[in-house]
Amino acid sequence: MINTPHVWMLRLGAVTLALVIFLVDWLTSLDVAIAVLYVAVILISSDLFSYRGMRTVSLLCCLLTLAAYLLSHVSPADAWQAPPFARCLVSLAAITISAILALKSKAAKEALQQQVQLLHRSEACLAGAQRLSRTGSVGMKLPDGRLNWSEEARRIFEFEGPEQPTLQQMISRTHPDDTGDLKKLIEEAYAHHECPEAEFRLLMPDGRCKHVRMLAQRAADSSGCCEYLGALMDVTTAKCAEEALHQSQSQLAHVTRVTILGEMAASIAHEVNQPLAAVTTNAEAGLRWLNREEPNVIEVCGAIQRIMSEAHRASEVIRGIRALSRKSEPRYLSINLQEVLQEALLLTRRETRRHKVNIEFQPRQDGLWVQGDRIQLQQVIINLLLNALQALSCTPPRGRRLSILLETAPGDDVRLRIQDNGPGIPAQNLPRLFNPFFTTKPEGMGMGLSICRSIIEAHGGRIWAESEPGHGAKVCFSLPGQVPASS
Ligand code: ADP
Repeated sequence: MINTPHVWMLRLGAVTLALVIFLVDWLTSLDVAIAVLYVAVILISSDLFSYRGMRTVSLLCCLLTLAAYLLSHVSPADAWQAPPFARCLVSLAAITISAILALKSKAAKEALQQQVQLLHRSEACLAGAQRLSRTGSVGMKLPDGRLNWSEEARRIFEFEGPEQPTLQQMISRTHPDDTGDLKKLIEEAYAHHECPEAEFRLLMPDGRCKHVRMLAQRAADSSGCCEYLGALMDVTTAKCAEEALHQSQSQLAHVTRVTILGEMAASIAHEVNQPLAAVTTNAEAGLRWLNREEPNVIEVCGAIQRIMSEAHRASEVIRGIRALSRKSEPRYLSINLQEVLQEALLLTRRETRRHKVNIEFQPRQDGLWVQGDRIQLQQVIINLLLNALQALSCTPPRGRRLSILLETAPGDDVRLRIQDNGPGIPAQNLPRLFNPFFTTKPEGMGMGLSICRSIIEAHGGRIWAESEPGHGAKVCFSLPGQVPASS
């Protein structure tokens, strides 16, 4: 109750009315229960006083009734006359009953007011939280498609005006490429009672694009009408950050690929030089066989065939290098991981020889298929091979072993394991092995394994390392397997 002058005047009026009733009840000798009029005072007071104030007013009315009765019937003989006493009792009963009812309704009203205040407060908290988390809510009644928007949801869609935006307005604000999906999602949610979850774009009138994530839950189902309560999140910032991260990751991956090629320059030069030298030798031999008095055509054919296969070998190496150094967006295709592994082994062949490492690998007849980007997966394998070769330089040359196992794993996965018998990885390094910039090499960048992890995770796979002291290191990755492209 706010104590405005108006309220004070009304309170004064109620007290005056009580005093008037008291004086009339005391000073007049009418044979009616005038004190019953205190009920009016109590009813008026219920809007003017607090719960405690009303209790006081009710008590005061009872006391005034008693006082008037005692004062107007001063002699003991008068006091016990039945009619006035009965009138007094009736008045007291009426005052008490109306006081109890008024107090009850006052208590209920105060409780309701408190609830309303709490409701307002939680509404304000919700609106604040929605603003902070950039999450709005929309209630949607189906099949008529009536919508009930929270303030934040309207802000996300940039709807202005006091009216609740319609489903049509919502759809027309959606990016033209995503409207079909959104309509389908709403129809399917209604038909199959699903809890839809989707990400779509909004196209603002000024051409800006926003990314919104929507989660909805069926809230009520009465009279054939179902209601969905949806949360709408503005994920534009996160999307842009994800995009930027993706771009910088792919740039970084490209830079590291080029760095690897730089590191392998000597080996690559050798890999190309060797077939070129063989081509020259075979060409000279072929010429010699031709220049004889009786040219030996069979030998010449053999030389030409060797030239062809050596040229093919050189062009394979060059193709691999070109692919690795090219900067292109990842292309996810169905690929045979065994072929990717063999290409990586070809590119690192010279390094393997230089480190005098014996590679143990049993190729499978069928190969194993995954969905992925050939170049990125090749980069991962080359990285793991180079790490293992570098680790093996600490082991005496005679015992250096690197074993590769390509196999299927539980859950239709394909797993590749590269195991060396180098010094292994100390247990304290294992948890941070895949962290960016973690390196134990004086010239190391510490980006190789971190990039391998982002590539493998982007392919829906997992990469991990194991090492037991004195038993070298095992670095493995697994990818979701695929049915071969031909079948
Ligand atoms: P860099 O090769 O530049 O150091 P990586 O991310 O490729 O970066 O490797 C990080 C670290 O992981 C290496 O410095 C090395 O300490 C450790 N490591 C990776 N592979 C092996 C392995 N096969 N054996 C022992 N240590 C390894």
